[in-house]
Formats: sequence, structure tokens, C-alpha cells
Amino acid sequence: MNFVTELDVKGRLVFLRVDFNVPLDEGGAIRDDTRIRASLPTIGWLLDHGARLVIASHLGRPKGKVVPAMSLGPATKRLAELVPYKVAMAPDVVGDEVRRLKRALGEGEALVLENLRFYKEEEKNDPEFARQLAEDVDVFVNDAFGSSHRAHASVVGIAAYVPVKAAGYLMKKEVDYLKKAVHTPEKPYVAILGGAKVSDKIEIIESLLGKADQILIGGAMSYTFLKAQGLGVGTSLVEEDQLEVALVILDKARTSAVSFHLPQDHVLARSPEGGTETKVVESLPFPEDMMGVDIGPKTVEAYAAVIAAAKTVFWNGPMGIFEIDEFAQGSIGVAKAIAESNAVSIVGGGDSAAAVKKAGVRDKISHISTGGGASLEYVAYETLPGITALEN
Ligand code: AMP
Repeated sequence: MNFVTELDVKGRLVFLRVDFNVPLDEGGAIRDDTRIRASLPTIGWLLDHGARLVIASHLGRPKGKVVPAMSLGPATKRLAELVPYKVAMAPDVVGDEVRRLKRALGEGEALVLENLRFYKEEEKNDPEFARQLAEDVDVFVNDAFGSSHRAHASVVGIAAYVPVKAAGYLMKKEVDYLKKAVHTPEKPYVAILGGAKVSDKIEIIESLLGKADQILIGGAMSYTFLKAQGLGVGTSLVEEDQLEVALVILDKARTSAVSFHLPQDHVLARSPEGGTETKVVESLPFPEDMMGVDIGPKTVEAYAAVIAAAKTVFWNGPMGIFEIDEFAQGSIGVAKAIAESNAVSIVGGGDSAAAVKKAGVRDKISHISTGGGASLEYVAYETLPGITALEN
């Protein structure tokens, strides 16, 4: 994989895929510009070196339609405030006017395209759309690690039509870190998985069964595994259509070398909002009108002991409804255990990163990935479609 600084970009038309998927408030103002700032090293390097720069991103889920509230206008304005270069906004993603604006770009000038996902062709990786994105482009740079697990036109399709491809600073930092940690992880290698859904993590868990030494499960996902074994979990969040798959995973875990841990105790509440009676239980079934909202203290202790012995730790997904302080102790406990261990630690996903912040241990984690789904898939498959596209 080329790195952007190895290229001669002077006078070249460079298409840079970034992640400007920033949170906006109701008035359309940017609530947090971290993602824009994170792209500045690559944008700055390209403009400093005389690139004619086209910048592209998605924002939100407009689902193939023009949704003015999801325009990249505010992000473009913020970028223009952050760099000492001319930054213009295109009225569209492709088409005659965009073609004209691309061709008119001078060295050290940037043009931000409209939201890529205003076109359904983006997520479909439509070859004709990818070709139009690539029109007149000399160099394709991908700095959107968090989108690189998606085979979309601006991530994968475009690469087929551009002669020179490279990774930006953010992308390289992520890949360098993850590669070192997961291709040949120092053992014991502990994977901690939580969050609401099993369905989007099935393949990941299956792949980790062949790689990790210990898998620690938390979050609502646990209740799908428990219910699959015929245990009563009250009103806990369960993915009913995943019960069979969960059983298959439990079976595979039994015959694999990995130790697969489910929580030993649970914090129960009557509602997921907090402010109601809670209790900690070790045995199942749960009372019929209560739900599991966090892992219990015994589980935190057991998981912390496993983490303390680890040399590599990967964590994705909270252990409970951590957004509510009463139900955040499990996630905070796991975050603290990771911080206290000597393991190389990688935390991926907005929720787990937020839990690490809540626990006040951000500076004790080796690497906090900017991409939740992307880091999860990288850990499982050791590459991503967007990385392969840069390598071919
Ligand atoms: P995911 O997107 O699958 O990683 O899920 C993240 C979400 O899972 C967070 O918003 C958590 O509040 C939620 N979550 C974690 N544990 C539970 C639980 N026991 N019950 C309901 N939601 C949960």
C-alpha cells in the first residue's frame, strides 16, 4: 500500500475520500468537528504539495436521495476555516458542473463534493458512478478508514479507474496499528465483544474463534446467547431470529481452543431508562418483568482477571446500556481493567471509545480506532475492501 507522502502530486487532480460524517445539531451546526480535524494532516500535505484536490465524503444516511439537512456545506465551511487554502463547495457529486469545477481547480485549491450518499449508486458500488467519480482524476487517496469495510464506489469502485492510489495519514496510522496487533498478536489474545446485536457480529465471532484465546461477551448480545440455551431472560433485548445462529456459535466455541465467556451475573432493571429499581442476579431465569442492562460485579471481576493476563486486547461494544450512568459500571470496569493491563490494547467503535472516556483512561489505551465496524472487520479478516482496493 502506497502512502500519500511517497507521491508527486503537484498539479495532479487528486480525489481524496475522507470521513466528514460529523454530528450536526437541529439547526445544522456541527456539534463536533473531530473528524474534519483528523483529516487535516492529509489535506494539508496534499495542498502544501500543489495538488488540485477533490474531497469526498458521506454524511448520515440520506439513502440515495438529496436531503438538504445532510449537505456537506457546513463541513466545507469548517474546513475552509481550518486551512489557509481556497476551499470551494461543489453543488453535486458528479455531472457537468462538477466536471467543470474539477477541471478549473488550481494547484493548492480544494473542491468538496456534495454528500456521496445522495446517490444510491455510491453504496451499490455502481461501476458507472465510480467511473464518473474518477473522471480526470490522476491520484486516488483514501483516508476514510471508518468507511473502508464497505465496498462502496468512492472506497472500492473508483480504484479501478485511477492509475495511482495511496493511503492518507489516518488510514496508515490505523492499518499500521491494527496490522501489528492482530496479524501476529502476542498471546494471550483477548477479544471483548458487547453491544446490542449479535446479528452484525456473527462472522466476526466465528473468525475470532480461530484467532483469540479468550472471548468475553457482554451487552444485550449475552441475552441472545442465554435464551438460545433455553434460559429465561425476562424482558431483555433478544434477537429472536438469531437464536439458532447463537447456538451454532456456542457449539463451535465448545470444540475450538478458545474460552468463550458469558456473564456470570447481571444487573437487572424494569426499564432501560434508569431511575427504577435495579438488582443484581447470578441465576436465571430473570424475573419476567425485568431486563438485563449491564454485566454484574462478579463478571467485571472475572473479566478483569482474564484481561490482566492478556498480552493483546481488542474491545468493541459496551457491556451494558452505558449511556445511563447507573448501567455503565460494567463498561467502565472493563475499560479500567484494560487500562491497568500491560497488553497492547485496541478499542474500536464510538460506544466503547465513549466508555473509555467515561472511565477516564483514554491515555492508557494503546490505540482507539476511529472506525467501529471497520476495526471489527479488520480484526476478523486482517484486511478491508478499501485496503485491498488500494493494493491492487
Ligand atoms: P451495537 O451498535 O450493537 O454495538 O450496540 C451498542 C448499543 O448497545 C449501545 O447503545 C448500548 O446502550 C446498547 N446495549 C448494550 N447493552 C445493552 C442491554 N443490556 N440492553 C439494551 N441495550 C444494550
